[in-house]
Amino acid sequence: MVIWNPWHGCKKISPGCANCYVYRRDESIGKDASIVSKTGDFNLPLKKNRQGNFKLQSDDGTIFTCMTSDFFLDEADEWRRDCWDMIKQRQDLDFYIITKRIDRFSECAPPDWNDGWNNVTICCTCENQDRADYRLPIFLDLPIKHREIISEPMLEEIDIKKYLETGLIEHVTCGGESGAGARPCDFKWIKKVRIDCIRCGVPFTFKQTGAVFIKDGKTYHIDRKNQMPQARKSCYDYIPCANIADKIIYKLPDRKILFERLGHSNFRSRFRLSQKDKDYISDKGIETIKSHAKDFIADRLAPENPKNDGEQTPMKGHPVFIAQHATACCCRSCLEKWHNIPAGKPLTKAEQDYITDVIMEWINNGISNINGG
Ligand code: SF4
Ligand SMILES: [Zn+2]
Repeated sequence: MVIWNPWHGCKKISPGCANCYVYRRDESIGKDASIVSKTGDFNLPLKKNRQGNFKLQSDDGTIFTCMTSDFFLDEADEWRRDCWDMIKQRQDLDFYIITKRIDRFSECAPPDWNDGWNNVTICCTCENQDRADYRLPIFLDLPIKHREIISEPMLEEIDIKKYLETGLIEHVTCGGESGAGARPCDFKWIKKVRIDCIRCGVPFTFKQTGAVFIKDGKTYHIDRKNQMPQARKSCYDYIPCANIADKIIYKLPDRKILFERLGHSNFRSRFRLSQKDKDYISDKGIETIKSHAKDFIADRLAPENPKNDGEQTPMKGHPVFIAQHATACCCRSCLEKWHNIPAGKPLTKAEQDYITDVIMEWINNGISNINGG
């Protein structure tokens, strides 16, 4: 990861700025972060090494730009033009700019910006609903080739579905706040944005829990070093593969990770095949059980709006029902939550085959007692 900080220092303008890490870090070394000054790295994109080659090469990955300030800060108006020139010269590099000042974009864009440059991604932050509703309409109206949203620190539940539905947002990142005095982040806020992303086919990243994390009403204080790993461990990222002919094609969860997650759920892991279920399977044969699974899925899960959704899968009476609860293939909201399969649309044949596979894998493990089924 390459960071290019052409200037350093910033002015607080938004609720998300209250515990700004630039201020925190500068304070710890007795520096005033509100003083904005050019850095020695100002012309990093054009810097060359002794061999006369650019220091930054296209395979260095994304260039995170202005990470200790805001690219659209008015104090930097005089310097920005030179930065745009460098960005334009380095078409081989991808520049990533995060801003809380999207409302200054039009006055700050270079004259030859036209309908946007391909090598620039602008990421608009929205820490609460008020800022989302102010910034995102402006953001969506601008000529920008690559748009992302970041809600970090996420300060409350936000509803950004109508903005995601435009199809103009390429990625959403959410996370909590770090540092002393961090404000809490509730997992249910993260979940809501994630579900909206899944429904709209927008990739989603849960970056970090923050220092004060609320889950199921309980508050957890999380060490800095664990904030990102904890978020990763939740397997909450969502990566659609492509949008083809209006059909959302997304990435189904990795099977190994899925079974690990299921194993961590008290509710899911308590389901087991009884002796009666095992006898039934050996009596009917595994292929017949598989065909029952296919039928149950087609009848009870596949319709756009299944009857009694949430209650369509009995808790007992067939080994497939047990497997459905154990693998979170019991209803459409569990399929959405655990398997990324959006609710509110009929299941495709591929999705039905995937669900059958997951169920049969659990049953086969259960017969041989691998997962304790
Ligand atoms: S805009 Fe960003 S860098 Fe500037 S004060 Fe706010 S949080 Fe800090
Ligand atoms: Zn369910």
